[in-house]
Amino acid sequence: ATPMAVMVGTGLGAAHGILIKDAAALEDAVKLDVVIFDKTGTLTMGQPKVEQVVPGPGFDEATVIATAAAIEQGSEHHIAVAVLERAKGLALPPLTDFAAFEGKGVRAVVDGRTVYSGNRMLMEENGIDLGPLAARSVELQGAGRTVAHIAQDGRVIGLIAIADAPRPTARETIERLQALGVKVAMITGDNLGTAQRIGRELGIDIVLAEVLPGDKAAKVKELQAQGNKVGMVGDGVNDAPALTQSDVGFAIGAGTDVAIESAKVVLMRSDTLDVVKAIELSRATLRKMH
Ligand code: ADP
Ligand code: MG
Repeated sequence: ATPMAVMVGTGLGAAHGILIKDAAALEDAVKLDVVIFDKTGTLTMGQPKVEQVVPGPGFDEATVIATAAAIEQGSEHHIAVAVLERAKGLALPPLTDFAAFEGKGVRAVVDGRTVYSGNRMLMEENGIDLGPLAARSVELQGAGRTVAHIAQDGRVIGLIAIADAPRPTARETIERLQALGVKVAMITGDNLGTAQRIGRELGIDIVLAEVLPGDKAAKVKELQAQGNKVGMVGDGVNDAPALTQSDVGFAIGAGTDVAIESAKVVLMRSDTLDVVKAIELSRATLRKMH
């Protein structure tokens, strides 16, 4: 590799808000077979909003939201942020015995009652039946919503459907990568139904759903073991090991410090299209070297 071409390439990247921390990344980006995108905060805006509250029989919306918000006070997850935003102005009862289950949800004691907020896995693991809300839960997930199931005293009292809009350039990013001959995957801790719907909307080739935070790096390794050079794009703390494991890690500039530290390339404008530009730039740079 001629150092001059790489230097020019790195400089061109920087001028476009693509910070290449490791010059070797420019050469590795040429060989990428698959690029995996984290879902929340990377392909989506990462600003989820409560879109719908579905109370169970005998409950009303306000009770479901207040109960959920009471317990989500203990969490920093983006779902907690959305629920607390919706509960603004409501008096929230204090909570004790708070516990968070990574990739699943939260539990606490509120007014002497055990309350859960989380995905279906969390409900199943605690023997909580979804009762008459089971079908609604599946339907909302099939429509691309993330569903928080709110349970109290061992039964689900309501569902909270949360929507997080895709970034405006997400679809174009995916189409252009595919046009370059690169396969596109999406990875998420979210439910399979939700992920498949969003994957279909965006034209994703491979949907990796219900992946626990600690297992993201293993998924990268799996694709590498199948003979692929793998790029990973992420923003979150739990994307860091996967960014490190990948052949080229891309961090969203607006993401967490840990993600930025773990990536070889930083997308300063937080635009996924800059992944395409980085790969095009690396191809152009390599052509100049031969
Ligand atoms: P992601 O960042 O892709 O949403 P996570 O691993 O953080 O993945 O979470 C996976 C799933 O666990 C979420 O989609 C949600 O259903 C559930 N979950 C996690 N934390 C919470 C929480 N504080 N409240 C409700 N549900 C939660
Ligand atoms: Mg994320």
